[in-house]
Amino acid sequence: APVIGVLALQGDVREHLAALAAVGAQARPVRRPAELDAVDGLVIPGGESTTISKLVDIFELREPIDKRIAAGMPVYGSCAGLIMLAAEVLDGRPDQRGFDGIAMTVRRNAFGRQVDSFEAPVEISGIDGGPLHAVFIRAPWVERVGPDVEVLGTITEGPAAGRIVAVRQNNLLATSFHPELTHDRRLHHYFTHLVHTTA
Ligand code: GLN
Repeated sequence: APVIGVLALQGDVREHLAALAAVGAQARPVRRPAELDAVDGLVIPGGESTTISKLVDIFELREPIDKRIAAGMPVYGSCAGLIMLAAEVLDGRPDQRGFDGIAMTVRRNAFGRQVDSFEAPVEISGIDGGPLHAVFIRAPWVERVGPDVEVLGTITEGPAAGRIVAVRQNNLLATSFHPELTHDRRLHHYFTHLVHTTA
């Protein structure tokens, strides 16, 4: 089984570890460069991207993670993790920095104050069995993507209809929502399969 790390500096680390274990991955928390060396893929959880960004520097993980990404390691970011994988962040803090990740521009807390949290069905291209029940919590959306980025899912109804909430660029996968907070394991299965076929 592929060994998949969860960046364990802040955020909903335990939920991702449980979801990965449920689909047969060997799931481990990653806090140190030596732990990163031992994984085939990495999940960046939801939480607060500004906090995760600071802790990535404090724990001296920025350069090692950028190097692994450049070498082709699969990474999946959910919510704050999507922000950490974005080349450009709108409404971010001036000092927050992501990894050398996906050629996309994302907007933090994009869905607005009135709708801090909501749930919506989102069809994900490449995942069969009907739409995922997506949970959004102070979520970002993706405003622009580069030519190499595949849009996997968008909001289909309501004022945010058409907004991009799931993308993939080669081995990098990101969603605005939190599949780890539901019992549907199809997205973790999809990522584990990606790690398995890459490793
Ligand atoms: N608003 C958070 C941020 O900017 C993301 C929210 C989440 O991960 N649920 O990082």
